[in-house]
Amino acid sequence: MIKETQPQLIYEPKNKTLTGFLQFEGEYQGYKIKDKYNIEIDFNNQQPLPLVKEINGRIEKISKDKDLDLIDLHINYGDINKGLCLCSRFKAFEYAEKLKDSPSPGINFIQELVIPFLYGISHFEKYDKFPFGTMEHGTLSLVREITNNIEYFKYLQSYIKILPEEAKKFIYEYAYSFNLGNVIYKNEKIGRNKPCPCNSGLKYKKCHLNIVNILSNCLLISQKKAPSFRRPSAFM
Ligand SMILES: [Zn+2]
Repeated sequence: MIKETQPQLIYEPKNKTLTGFLQFEGEYQGYKIKDKYNIEIDFNNQQPLPLVKEINGRIEKISKDKDLDLIDLHINYGDINKGLCLCSRFKAFEYAEKLKDSPSPGINFIQELVIPFLYGISHFEKYDKFPFGTMEHGTLSLVREITNNIEYFKYLQSYIKILPEEAKKFIYEYAYSFNLGNVIYKNEKIGRNKPCPCNSGLKYKKCHLNIVNILSNCLLISQKKAPSFRRPSAFM
């Protein structure tokens, strides 16, 4: 099916990658775009969505021409893979869950996330603005996102399993944003009926108690994992 809609993309079953030109055409609020990008989608590398890279340096060139950092075009600059930042972390978990039930997850992924992302880049290149608005960067924006979507806490366990360092940074930012640092990191005890340290005016049990339990539990899970570094052999 991908062959019919995207004849220039080739699937390599051995590596589970799709490479080649992804083409698209569309119109949004009267602006027309027809374009194609040379990309690679790695279905083996799911964090939790497949890793997508643009491999001709086109986006890098756009960022240089516009005098912007790659991160401003939503490329994960710090990541050696320089993958496209298709949506926020929590939305990615939500989306990955939705894709599991789809009969053609690869095609849905391309149509619903990859094409709109690249469409946005082309639109920006041509008209100097993003058509659908943009996301903020960094962990603090995730703190804001989870504050507005409390149900995203259900993804925290998967997050710490897949991306422990990033998730730990998020938990740290969250804890200190809500004045819960001492409770989470220093075992300060707070009575269930005492005011919540976040200053909401609510009792702790009606406010952050459950969230603190989830966050603490995630930190415990991450400690059970072996550390990712090895000691130099001289010290062993
Ligand atoms: Zn609270």
